[in-house]
Amino acid sequence: APFPILLEGEVQRGFGRGGKDLGCPTANLPDESLPSMSTVTETGVYYGYAQVSPYNKEGKLILSEEESSVLPMVMSFGQNPFFKNKHLTAEIHIMHEIKSDFYGHVMKAVVLGYIRPELNYTTQEALIEDIETDKRVAMRCLEREGYQKFKLDPHFGLVL
Ligand code: ADP
Ligand code: MG
Repeated sequence: APFPILLEGEVQRGFGRGGKDLGCPTANLPDESLPSMSTVTETGVYYGYAQVSPYNKEGKLILSEEESSVLPMVMSFGQNPFFKNKHLTAEIHIMHEIKSDFYGHVMKAVVLGYIRPELNYTTQEALIEDIETDKRVAMRCLEREGYQKFKLDPHFGLVL
């Protein structure tokens, strides 16, 4: 298995569509951070841990200690529908309330497993329902004993 996969990059602004409305904002990783994902062949939903730097690009402290700790996440990895070519994108939803936006902050992630392939939805309700299922599945997976050590992975900053 290719896991863990380490990712790191500055959070990019997207179209701001859907995410916050669906109750599931996703922080977009830049294309340059994605080569390590070439070890997986499946697009779809993954789970793992993520950590956002508390500092913005100007070095200003924006996030609290808790908001910038290592937190459970679900990641959508797939084709951006905006691009007709095979343009892959990775977007991470952190399963914790973060009160401010963190565009431009460095985000690190450890991808630990695969949940499901990309699906087409006929209704927004069906999509929201599936996202809720993904979050529950990810939480249950990450509770397992064997995963706890990844919170302390040297890829992440010191957890105080
Ligand atoms: P965009 O299209 O710009 O990615 P989204 O609606 O997907 O817009 O919102 C993503 C942004 O929301 C992130 O870049 C981040 O600044 C902010 N955000 C706040 N809380 C979270 C969270 N728990 N997980 C991911 N992003 C969050
Ligand atoms: Mg997004």
